[in-house]
Amino acid sequence: MHKKLFTPGPSEVRSEILQAMATPQIHHRSKEFSQLYAELQPKLQKLLYTQNPVLLFTSSSTGAMESAVINGVRKKCLNLVNGAFSKRWHKITEMNGIPCDTINLDWDKAIKPEMVDEKLSTGEYDAVTLVFNETSTGMMNPLEEIAEVVKKYPDVLFFVDAVSAMGGAKIEVDKLGIDMCLAGVQKCFALPSGIAVASVSERLLKRAEELNRGYYFNLPLMYKYHLKNQTRVTPAISQIIALNAQMDYILDEEGLENRFARHEKMAKIVQDWARKYFDIYPEKGYESKTLTCVKNTRNISVGKLNEELAKHHMVISNGYGDLKEKTFRIAHMGDLQVQDIYGLLDVISEILDL
Ligand SMILES: *Cc1c(COP(=O)(O)O)cnc(C)c1O
Repeated sequence: MHKKLFTPGPSEVRSEILQAMATPQIHHRSKEFSQLYAELQPKLQKLLYTQNPVLLFTSSSTGAMESAVINGVRKKCLNLVNGAFSKRWHKITEMNGIPCDTINLDWDKAIKPEMVDEKLSTGEYDAVTLVFNETSTGMMNPLEEIAEVVKKYPDVLFFVDAVSAMGGAKIEVDKLGIDMCLAGVQKCFALPSGIAVASVSERLLKRAEELNRGYYFNLPLMYKYHLKNQTRVTPAISQIIALNAQMDYILDEEGLENRFARHEKMAKIVQDWARKYFDIYPEKGYESKTLTCVKNTRNISVGKLNEELAKHHMVISNGYGDLKEKTFRIAHMGDLQVQDIYGLLDVISEILDL
């Protein structure tokens, strides 16, 4: 029996999408594929409020994170670290032998614009990485304020991991001056995992051309095929078909503003509940709109709770890494509805006798 996913990726996928996944394959060098690609492109640009091309990566989000730093850092990269995924981006930069440095905070603290300003004012850096929504801690970093700071430094490229926010929270790429904004499709897009999308600015492409690094994730080479409405390598064709169908649903059936409002509403319900019975892990004012990391102030067994939830065909996530039993995470992302959230919280309250 299927358990409904209240986990922050992969997220629950609608049956219409599962059916779209079963569409017969088309050849990736055919006219039909180019039509599909060309049709999908403006939909993704609309979602991201951008004129920049949105490239498709046949990899999970981590591949797109790697592509940002290999293509876009000439001097030194400043990685803003306050959780597991931002730590991962730092690791990726280091393991590629790219000079880098961090602002390293406790995981319950948000990145503040002044901290970024202070570091960038040294002139040492030509790129910054930010995880907008830290899925490990349920923290939403202040993207807009940080973007304002980065804009003061014209040589500094701005890379944003929006993996667990894109499609659930508004991100205005052009207004914020984001050079790469990336996400996998298995979170707020509510699609089966397997591809990632990333908007890529002209100045990033220009720097990437000069650096000419990497092979699989070489952005200028990917862009060459993009101009032909193709992907450079054989893509995950089924995922692209499903993404195109889901974008129609997001833009035309639900509507972007409605989708963002639904996420805010679900977040408020879960966060009110969490504050009443437990507490919330991240610093106040920076709670995520797409998942809630609940501080386990009652010392419940998170493992046991999930075992009980399984009997009701539901699953949530334990805390990440060291936070495993100290927190638990409830995702309210993708195509989950307000009623699903009320249903889950009722069951949890019943199991825990709250
Ligand atoms: C899930 C997630 C990732 C990693 O995604 P993969 O698709 O598994 O590579 C990276 N960053 C954030 C913020 C995430 O939530």
